[in-house]
Amino acid sequence: MSSKYSGLKIFHYQDKLDTLEKTKSEISAPIHIRIKPTNVCNHNCWYCAYKSDDLQLGQDMVEKDYIPEQKMMEIIDDCKDMGVKAITFSGGGEPFTYRYFQQTIEKLIDKKIAFASLTNGSKLNGEIAELFAKNATWLRVSIDGYNDESYAKARDVKEGEFSKIINNMKEFTNIENRTCNLGVSFIIDATNYTKIYQFCELIKDIGVDSIKLSGCVVANDGNENNKYHEPFFNEAKELSQKVKNELEDENFEVFDSYHYLEDKFDKDYTWCPYSQILPVIGADLNIYPCQDKAYNLDNGLVGSIKDKRFKDFWFNDKDKFFKINPSKDCQNHCVANGKNQMILDYLDAQHLGFV
Ligand code: SF4
Repeated sequence: MSSKYSGLKIFHYQDKLDTLEKTKSEISAPIHIRIKPTNVCNHNCWYCAYKSDDLQLGQDMVEKDYIPEQKMMEIIDDCKDMGVKAITFSGGGEPFTYRYFQQTIEKLIDKKIAFASLTNGSKLNGEIAELFAKNATWLRVSIDGYNDESYAKARDVKEGEFSKIINNMKEFTNIENRTCNLGVSFIIDATNYTKIYQFCELIKDIGVDSIKLSGCVVANDGNENNKYHEPFFNEAKELSQKVKNELEDENFEVFDSYHYLEDKFDKDYTWCPYSQILPVIGADLNIYPCQDKAYNLDNGLVGSIKDKRFKDFWFNDKDKFFKINPSKDCQNHCVANGKNQMILDYLDAQHLGFV
């Protein structure tokens, strides 16, 4: 089965790889952009990386921030002009609470830019759900609870929200001519790990196309995070493998990403290739190198587009991509670490004839 989660996709973009290094004067467009349209959220997850004091994500996030409508339209025009291939919406806040979300999605459809979103699924209904079903590449609903009670507790929402979201997803899968892949990301923690299999059966039954199983990140330090998972790790891992072995088929992809993190998040490289490949535009109109550095003004800021167009910012002055030195600035969890290492290895390869 082909994997939508392959970490090797960047190797389809030779031109991009050829311009990444500082010594290459050319700057090429990012391939994929993550946009955080709003920092407002209608849920309050206990482990939310943007709100938890124990996690460095989001330390400078202002909750009321959102991207003004005109600026969002300008960003999309720029993405089209630059040749950006895809845009993913994520939080900060819940993308579907962004007041101009429908206009944004209509513009992306008009401009023929591929798009996707992470969401809690609470507002996945009506016209916006139709637009996504027929035009988005994928939509991933993050879930932690396994019934109304556990979900309400994990997210500080009223009981019934879980059932509503399951129903939203069920209706979404039944939208006629749906082409959008609907995935669920199940966040494994100490309170829900025994229900992994039962939850996956439920979402497979309602027609969800894929599930990603991953561990709840509770600390910046890998060791501390692993200590949290240790008491139940083996049992949870066994269940996630059982899901993979027994529930995966041609209509239901299972991506088992439940694993211990590295003890330390140290990096030994001095520049970050992925910051030029998949940058983040925050609701504060700052550009960040990645999801893991979003809303970190100290050591995660590439620059701002408050007073300039995104395309003018991007193509002017390559040095901005090399200000962040991962060996010093990124002692944090980094989703692109493995991909960065592969790209750096590829760029540094010598004696190429001796394959
Ligand atoms: S956290 Fe990772 S992706 Fe982000 S800037 Fe550091 S090395 Fe790059």
